Amino acid sequence: PDNAATGKTLPKYVRINLIKTDTNTVIENFKQNGWKLLKYQPSNFRETVESLKEREFMQDAHFPDLLVFPGGTDLHENKMCIAGEIIQQDKASCIPAHVLNPEEGAEVIDCCAAPGNKTSHVASLIRNKGKIFAFDKDARRMSTMKKLIGTAGVSCVECLCQDFLTVDPTDPKYSMVEYVLVDPSCSGSGIVNRLNQITDGKDSVSVQRLHQLSRFQISILKHALRFPGVKKVVYSTCSIHPEENEMVVNEVYSQVSDQFELVEIMPNHWLERGAPDHEHSQCFIRLSPDQSLTNGFFVSCFERRKIACSYDS
Ligand code: SAM
Repeated sequence: PDNAATGKTLPKYVRINLIKTDTNTVIENFKQNGWKLLKYQPSNFRETVESLKEREFMQDAHFPDLLVFPGGTDLHENKMCIAGEIIQQDKASCIPAHVLNPEEGAEVIDCCAAPGNKTSHVASLIRNKGKIFAFDKDARRMSTMKKLIGTAGVSCVECLCQDFLTVDPTDPKYSMVEYVLVDPSCSGSGIVNRLNQITDGKDSVSVQRLHQLSRFQISILKHALRFPGVKKVVYSTCSIHPEENEMVVNEVYSQVSDQFELVEIMPNHWLERGAPDHEHSQCFIRLSPDQSLTNGFFVSCFERRKIACSYDS
């Protein structure tokens, strides 16, 4: 169904903070407070989400640390939310940390981290064990981030208020970093409003603005790939423009393909792939309100080649 036409809001997604609690405890807590857990077969996940009524909820079909509630549900006053045990976060925004998938104890850089939703998610996945260097150049956004990660009980993060482009990749401080998240500033053209309509229609971002954003995105992604120990880099945006997505990734890939490969993410689980007419689109995923019942979003992943290609004869 055309959600934009029916004016239906997106479902509300709730991420479970594994630093403070676990999925079963959270589910039981909701049930004890009068919420009904809906069961479903994988094949009718989407229908079940769309049928959710007030005080019904379900587990997400793709991510075990995610619950789904009817659109419009407000859990800000919920005790688990206040305690930082659960966090309201769109499903699309939960994908980069899952694709990055660092192991406990790993060292991670989040280049553009504030307000910290994805940093806090990575911290949850590594159970607060390891180290996350979280950069953001905006001091106000960084202070919001410190509050968010404080509430979430995250202690493995070092917040660095700095332009990531000025960070020296050869600094020994970052020599153990194997994972990097690149979630740079973008046009935000995938974000939907309360009527479930994309707020910044495709044509309303000027060509000049797109060009400027895409130059910045290319430079920050290239910089992320310069860290010598890095083996995996996830690039994401909440934009629907190929100029900020497929075209950024393909431009960077053309410069690093001797060292990195583009990997096909969520191969058996995701139908919505990169925009057609762009190379490597099968490797990327896109999300949209109509198909995924989330904000518009793009995710891609570079992995260091096991043996670097050599063009020397
Ligand atoms: N990853 C964040 C999250 O999930 O909460 C959202 C990041 S937001 C899309 C992009 C962020 O990049 C902004 O907070 C902005 O201040 C920051 N930023 C932009 N240019 C930067 C740079 N050169 N170095 C570090 N941060 C930068």
